Amino acid sequence: MYPTNGHELGNEVPLGQGKVHYPAFIKKLKEIGYQGDITIEREMTGPDQKRDILSAREILEDVGQLSGNASVGRNPCYLHPKHNCHYIAVAEWKQQSVETRLVDINDGYELDKTKMHADSTECYASLTILCYEQLIKALTKETRISGVCIILPGLIDQKRQSLISTPLQIDWEVGGRLIEQLKSGFLYENLCILNDTACLSYAEIKSKGLKNTDFAYINFATGIGAALYMQERILGGATGSNTQFGHCCIDPDGLDCYCGAKGCLEAMIGESALPLRWGKEILDSAGNETGNSLNYSLLCKLAESGNENAVSALQNVADGFSLAAVDLITLVHPQRIIIGGKGIELGNLFLRRVKNNLKHMGLRYMVENVTVSFSTLSSDAAYYGAALYYFDTYYDFTAENSNGFYLG
Ligand SMILES: [Zn+2]
Repeated sequence: MYPTNGHELGNEVPLGQGKVHYPAFIKKLKEIGYQGDITIEREMTGPDQKRDILSAREILEDVGQLSGNASVGRNPCYLHPKHNCHYIAVAEWKQQSVETRLVDINDGYELDKTKMHADSTECYASLTILCYEQLIKALTKETRISGVCIILPGLIDQKRQSLISTPLQIDWEVGGRLIEQLKSGFLYENLCILNDTACLSYAEIKSKGLKNTDFAYINFATGIGAALYMQERILGGATGSNTQFGHCCIDPDGLDCYCGAKGCLEAMIGESALPLRWGKEILDSAGNETGNSLNYSLLCKLAESGNENAVSALQNVADGFSLAAVDLITLVHPQRIIIGGKGIELGNLFLRRVKNNLKHMGLRYMVENVTVSFSTLSSDAAYYGAALYYFDTYYDFTAENSNGFYLG
């Protein structure tokens, strides 16, 4: 805070971001012989307070290192705000690869990244350890890793201490073994495994200021997943186990789903359903001789260019999504539905159709005020989302040497 006039203080901001020039301020304190403590206080609660204080404490710790004085811990003489200090190593498990990035907890800046090919489902844990060892070479004396996160396109079961991922073909048995390997591979780091859709939704919360907005984030990936953010928390945390939106039934007589049921949302309108349902008809009518298979992006492009078969298929996809969305709205009543991942590639024709459908579907009281939109964040937002979720939920800056293991 900084006085705005002779009587009032201005807005409170994190240490180092306001008008006070701390290096000069501390220098002056030292000159006049101040020997006491410096107390960092923030008139707020929650994760933001933690980050601000951590950031401020970094400033003070640097003072100690720079002064060369044995009593520096209590008598800082020089304040130097540091941005590139606390990093989280975030690994994303993808189909046939592990991609890892060093993410600055202050601003999401990525110091370094690495990617390794996964030959089998059994090697995800060992590859993550290898990627991590590669990444820490990018650290300097001033930087440190405050934790490791793994982004999983699947479910995490805290009770069974296991995980499952259909896109990666990891079953419970393999999942349990991977967790054991990770536990023994990261003995001296905090490690956290998080569901991919939850990470993306957390990035929305933090980047778009949605802390007080109930919303459903729908992630179109290999499957179709959802994270439900209600009353300031993601239901089920970041385990991905509280909703299986992709397996809502939209047609009891529909196509078989790998889950054993019929007509699940992702079996009917998931990207991999497109070639099966409309591929030949649409590509033939578009004179496609390139051998490309039908995906969301191509469907959108052809529909926008006026191909009638593509328009009809795109409407069918929008209608199927609308059925599941209305069920979701009547069950949990979010204020917003945010469509992310590959769903964005379905484009504005799709979005307009969904919005129009919702004008005459479901209980008016529940549906009429819900807004539906595409996410404006990139798919890379999952990395920063994961780092922030871990930091806000699990990181304890009073016990930095702990080796916690967190699922979801
Ligand atoms: Zn299913």
